[in-house]
Amino acid sequence: MASVRVENLKKIFRRGKIEVRAVDGITITIPDGQAFGVLGPSGHGKTTFLRLIAGLEVPTDGTIYFDDELVSAPGRIVVEPEHRGIAMVFQLWALYPNMTVYDNIAFPLRNAKVPKSEIDKKVKEIAEELGLTKVLNHYPRELSGGQMQRTAIARALVKNPRLLLMDEPFSNLDAAVRDSARALVRKIQRERKLTTIIVSHDPADIFSIAEVAGVIINGKFAQVSSPTDIYDNPANEVVAKLGGDINIVNVTVSGGFIYLSSSVKVPSPNPKLEGKYRLGVRPEDVMLSDSTDAPGMTFAGKVKVKVSSYVAGVFRTVVSPIDDDSVELMVNMGGYVEPGSEKNLLIRTQKIKLFDENGENVTL
Ligand code: ATP
Repeated sequence: MASVRVENLKKIFRRGKIEVRAVDGITITIPDGQAFGVLGPSGHGKTTFLRLIAGLEVPTDGTIYFDDELVSAPGRIVVEPEHRGIAMVFQLWALYPNMTVYDNIAFPLRNAKVPKSEIDKKVKEIAEELGLTKVLNHYPRELSGGQMQRTAIARALVKNPRLLLMDEPFSNLDAAVRDSARALVRKIQRERKLTTIIVSHDPADIFSIAEVAGVIINGKFAQVSSPTDIYDNPANEVVAKLGGDINIVNVTVSGGFIYLSSSVKVPSPNPKLEGKYRLGVRPEDVMLSDSTDAPGMTFAGKVKVKVSSYVAGVFRTVVSPIDDDSVELMVNMGGYVEPGSEKNLLIRTQKIKLFDENGENVTL
């Protein structure tokens, strides 16, 4: 396995007179054996970052080292992609349909002109490790979803890469198998202590696999931290939204209180703040109740239910303060709540964030 050290990495594409700074000065070290996740919106440089590490793009500036070996330098590839010891997985699903499991797994070894006897040994070893021995002669159409995933992973790992690079690997999978695919990748990555970089726009991919994650915005890391820290303490509003559903509401902070409307308010986490801010609170940190108290929650005021709809195991309920219809909050409820009904709004105040006019988190 290898550590990856990236210093001031830049990739600028030029389209006529327009300059696209796809990767704009990234410095990061990914230690040997770590699973590192790159989360970011579409078009912000995730794939370019991965391709630079793979050696498929020439850096405009900056350097990349695998352990102490220089692999890319400004304007040149020092070590060609095929000599970097990497495995790249774009879509975990994509097996060759006209090849058996054995041939699918053997494919990268044959490409690398590995001797036949060694190929046989390696394919059988990894098939054993991944529970595929009994299906080596099967074609992909004869496999269960789980067996297909394991075959794809076996094919990626059979060359014993020192670095695994994954780009949106689960995006083509059904929701039902996506979770088990994530769990399998995580298990194998941890067991083998395989240095892994996974890029995705889906926080679930990153949160289920990565030990450390970087959020890339405009070609730069806006935050590098543990996935839970990125979720709980986002550096800014964009990171907060990328991490998962969050209510963002314009508020006024005055006299130690955050006002969502003139009647709905919670204590401010930072008594020094005064003025206009944007409040961020995740739906799971907000609750509706007939009572005014619940463990860990603070009563904020009266709200009216606008709509309650069932989405993925919860009743997404939208409410507004009774005195201001223009403010809306999304709440996760265990059951249907009748639109028009009035409820008490409770907020887990230690989880709220305030963002300033630049979107920076001022509650950190
Ligand atoms: P997505 O999630 O949509 O794949 P991404 O975060 O992976 O997006 P990149 O594919 O790295 O983003 O692209 C970053 C920026 O660089 C985009 O503006 C893209 O249009 C531009 N770009 C990428 N490759 C090229 C290229 N070969 N030539 C010109 N511009 C490019």
